Amino acid sequence: MDQKEHILEVRDLQTSFLTSTGEVKAVRGISFDIGKGESVGIVGESGSGKSVTSLSVMQLLAGTGRITGGSVKLNGEELIGKSKKEMRAIRGKQVAMIFQDPMTSLNPLLTVGDQVGEMLWAHDKNITKEDKKKRVIELFNLVRIPEPEKRYNCYPHEFSGGMRQRVMIAMALACKPDLLIADEPTTALDVSIQDQILKLMRSIQQEMGMSIMFITHDLGVVAELCSRVLVMYGGLVMEEASIFDVFENPCHPYTMGLIASIPDINQDKNKLLQPIPGSPPDMVNPPKGCPFAPRCPYACRICLEELPPVMEVAEGHKSRCWLLDKDAPAKDNPFKQRKEATT
Ligand code: SF4
Repeated sequence: MDQKEHILEVRDLQTSFLTSTGEVKAVRGISFDIGKGESVGIVGESGSGKSVTSLSVMQLLAGTGRITGGSVKLNGEELIGKSKKEMRAIRGKQVAMIFQDPMTSLNPLLTVGDQVGEMLWAHDKNITKEDKKKRVIELFNLVRIPEPEKRYNCYPHEFSGGMRQRVMIAMALACKPDLLIADEPTTALDVSIQDQILKLMRSIQQEMGMSIMFITHDLGVVAELCSRVLVMYGGLVMEEASIFDVFENPCHPYTMGLIASIPDINQDKNKLLQPIPGSPPDMVNPPKGCPFAPRCPYACRICLEELPPVMEVAEGHKSRCWLLDKDAPAKDNPFKQRKEATT
């Protein structure tokens, strides 16, 4: 993709939190781009660094969180080092975010119409009351809230979880951002409502042509919405590929584990799902080698000693795994065996 078409360029981003037990290195040097109109999924378990990545992009790190290195460019403009006031002007207009639990993000004392209207007013102090209401109703229509005029004066508690998430999406879209960051926006919802919200996001993305960064622990959800995926583990991007390549030719044992743990409605109902055994690494003292090694069925000595570099599998497909090294043995190597089988 042409460099000029990138909305977001992240280079060697490092983010840490200071805790009583030491410095938690939540993100340890990740790089990626998001193109204009592209939807990219960032997938991983809790503690993989995926949400910290999105909060770092938004410059919304709480407490002791701080970016310790790297660069985040939005529309070619460096965000790291911007003042709070500068970031407030960028948030909403160029980049907006929706979170997992809309109830904690909405003010229970204000009507949903007023809350979306406030977002419009924050970026255009000259907007008239009539224009504001008209625009909010347009946004409610866009996110398919039925009877938007009537719903304008409702309070958040009068809405279901799915409807509240639609209000949050309307709020995020109020200023037509170039990039929408969605952090687990469907996790708190029932499966059928989750599907409706994903379909809504996909149609809005097509209508508005914006870019989406979708954070989730569920690779199956990413397949519904995104064209490209970054798989994170231990604060690093372990695999990056198109959604097609990730499912057809996964080139990291962690990605293979994530795929095996997706429930399949066609599978024998007595067959157990396969969770990935073990737990994520201690990010105060991350391992010097591959962070996935203690849980990886293919780990060998080098995996414990050296962090695998990013290796290019094919155009647009990268992975951090020693099994892809040209000198790695073919025996018990799923990637070399798969390659041999297809040549
Ligand atoms: Fe497993 Fe080694 Fe690959 Fe890490 S580098 S995923 S431990 S085989």
